[in-house]
Amino acid sequence: MNSETKRMYEKLRSKLSGLLPDSVLREKAELAAEIVRLKVEKNAVILGHNYMEPALFHSIPDFVGDSLGLSRLAAKTEKDIILFCGVGFMAETAKILSPSKKVLIPALDAGCSLAEAITAEEVRALRARFPDVPIVTYVNTYAAVKAESDYCCTSGNAAKLVASLDSDRVIFLPDEYLAKNVAREVGLRSVAADEAESPLPPETLVYWRGRCEVHERFTTETIRALREAHPEAAILAHPECSPEVTARCDYAGSTTGMLHYLETREAESYILLTECDMGRNAAGMYPEKKILPLARFCCPYMKRITLENVLEALREERYEVTLEEEVRLRALRAVERMLQVG
Ligand code: 13P
Ligand code: SF4
Repeated sequence: MNSETKRMYEKLRSKLSGLLPDSVLREKAELAAEIVRLKVEKNAVILGHNYMEPALFHSIPDFVGDSLGLSRLAAKTEKDIILFCGVGFMAETAKILSPSKKVLIPALDAGCSLAEAITAEEVRALRARFPDVPIVTYVNTYAAVKAESDYCCTSGNAAKLVASLDSDRVIFLPDEYLAKNVAREVGLRSVAADEAESPLPPETLVYWRGRCEVHERFTTETIRALREAHPEAAILAHPECSPEVTARCDYAGSTTGMLHYLETREAESYILLTECDMGRNAAGMYPEKKILPLARFCCPYMKRITLENVLEALREERYEVTLEEEVRLRALRAVERMLQVG
């Protein structure tokens, strides 16, 4: 073992010895050490989303975070290459913000069920039906959809952004559940786009019927059973869960919002209703907290990113994210507005 491999091995062992066998930790440490060597050689920065598998999450990223935090970091990096350990729309957002950098994503099929839920043409049709209503688009969309929108947001600032608009009517795309959670928080009534009449009545939020295929699986029955089995636990949910679920939780917020809750609030134990690896990653970050590993649903797209394909991505400098400049510039307007809201 060379010194970098040893350093990685010790780091992984301190975070994950209860989770992975020693032989696997050694293998992962070797891969991670080679990735770090190449990262330095190629002047790259590695950004990692909070849902990355634990060995990757705790080893190679220079920064980890939620969509909002990683977008901010992508906007200000001075490195030549941004290697994004996350899904496609996240890497695209990095390219929108940092067009002169080479942005790489290790797997081309790291998609998202929300990003697939709406097209640019569908956004244009909504604009034609509701010409004076601002369109707010979740960051979990592709650049062509962002380009048709007025504002972009993440789960970390969605309610704040909608509340700051100079309009009591808003179109919020494409996540039905996030839209309904935001509507409740800011005091708007919500109506589905396919049922909305034009002109819209005052104080209305129009939603699309997109869903996150992971978070839609948590139900009120999930909460009931968890409360019964673990009455002492604080239950945290991502706002891509249904409003019925979030209403029954102790906290709803972005993945970094959940980490902040863990850091600042005392509970006997915690349950994170979100992607399966989030709880494991949080447990490595806060060993003193009792985080119950009860969220079993994994995002198949996030799991397409592995230490193996990150190594290949850096070696071969693939797969490069490219955007038409005209689309990028129109999307940039909405994304910059997202970054302005705290
Ligand atoms: P965050 O912005 O909260 O990290 O969420 C991204 C995501 O894809 C949740 O499913
Ligand atoms: Fe998309 Fe859901 Fe996966 Fe997040 S967890 S990337 S919203 S499919």
